[in-house]
Amino acid sequence: MQKHETKLKKIHYEYLDLEYIVINKCPHCNLDIHPNAENTYFLQNNTFQIRVLSLACPSCKEQYFILNDFSEDATAIHAKYLGSIPKYGFNENSLVKNTTKKFQNLYTQSINAEILGNQDIAFFGYIKSLEILLKDIAILEHPENEDAILFCSLTACLEQYHATNIHLFSKKLLEVLKCDYLHYQKTDAFFTYAELVKDCIDYFLLYLELLLKTINLNENQKLINGTRKGH
Ligand SMILES: [Zn+2]
Repeated sequence: MQKHETKLKKIHYEYLDLEYIVINKCPHCNLDIHPNAENTYFLQNNTFQIRVLSLACPSCKEQYFILNDFSEDATAIHAKYLGSIPKYGFNENSLVKNTTKKFQNLYTQSINAEILGNQDIAFFGYIKSLEILLKDIAILEHPENEDAILFCSLTACLEQYHATNIHLFSKKLLEVLKCDYLHYQKTDAFFTYAELVKDCIDYFLLYLELLLKTINLNENQKLINGTRKGH
């Protein structure tokens, strides 16, 4: 599935006989790219051996930095990914631009948390992002129920306002969404649910785009009909 291939992930990148960890997307234009390395800088003290890789995006031509820690205790085998400057974000072309600032803010933070290896924080962030997205969509479809939607739980929102899509949430995923983190955190399966939550977010981002297009078309049609009646 193409959708899967475009997911944000860390990849290995060789430059001057060193293997760096970079992300597979440009932090400026969000496209899947194979960046061009331009230079590398070295920062060192007793604790860190940081290599800064200057990269350029072949598509938008913008430059950015990737920071890796090569200290021996950073990780056993590979360099440790520290981050990018600027931080990975979302650009104009992304489906995310259709969403509210509240969603964008939390979703971007969740992605950055995941890139930095903060899996638990990322997991909560993705679940909460999904909740915001589902509520935003429900409010678009049922503006008269805005207050009730804002105050209901994620699962209540799913059951009441997304009944036609609830089959996408496997029984296990629904259980995780409903249950307490401390109960699941001990199991290995816990983090496989993070992928399911991310897939649900991807699905509802597409759903939102289609919904907005439909609303737009219907409103245009109403305007046309209104003008005709006026004549
Ligand atoms: Zn770019």
